[in-house]
Amino acid sequence: MKKYTMIHDENLCIGCQACSVACRSENDVPRGVYRLQVHAKMSGTFPNLKTDFIRHSCVMCEDSPCVDVCPTGASFKTAENITLLDHSICISCKYCILACPYDARYVEPSSGEIGKCTFCYTNRLSVGQEPACVSVCPTDALIFGDLNDENSQVAKTLKTSPHYYPKAELLTRPQLAMIANTKGAKDE
Ligand code: SF4
Ligand code: SF4
Repeated sequence: MKKYTMIHDENLCIGCQACSVACRSENDVPRGVYRLQVHAKMSGTFPNLKTDFIRHSCVMCEDSPCVDVCPTGASFKTAENITLLDHSICISCKYCILACPYDARYVEPSSGEIGKCTFCYTNRLSVGQEPACVSVCPTDALIFGDLNDENSQVAKTLKTSPHYYPKAELLTRPQLAMIANTKGAKDE
C-alpha cells in the first residue's frame, strides 16, 4: 500500500506563492479562505537578516485529531494515509476545526462546508498526477510521492536530508516534512 508523503524544502522555496495560487485554482478555493499558503518569517538584525518560507496547510497527520473528534465519521483516513472529508455525512459541527492543531481547516463562506488540503486526492492523484502545488513549483521545493517505495524521491530525500515535522511534539505524526532553511543571516 502506498503512503503518500510531501516534503517542503525551505532552502529552495522563494515564497512566490505559485503553489497557493495553483491550489486555489485547482480546487476552486473561494476568497477569504485557503488550503495552502507560504508564510515569510523574518529573523536577525538589519542588515543581517534571514527570511524563512514556511508552508501552512494540512500536514496529513497519521494520528489525526480531526478524525478522532468527528462524531459522524465524515473525517477519515484513506488507506494511503490521506485525511479526507466525506461531505455527504459531514454536519459542519466544526469539531475538527477546533481539534486541528495546525489550523488547517476552514468553513467555505458560501456553502458552509468544511474544507482543507486533500493533496488533490480525487482530482489529480486518482488520475496519476501530482498535487497541483507540486506540479507548478518553479524551484522544485516540493517533493511528493510514496514513502513505502524506497526508490521514490521522497524516501531517498528523507533518508539523506535532515528534516523536521511541524509540531512533532504533539505526536500527530505529520506526513508533511520540512527541510529547514540553512541559508541567511547566521551564515554571513
Ligand atoms: S493537520 Fe489538521 S486537518 Fe490535517 S490531518 Fe492533522 S488534524 Fe487533520
Ligand atoms: S511554488 Fe514552490 S517556491 Fe513558490 S512558494 Fe510554493 S513551494 Fe515556495
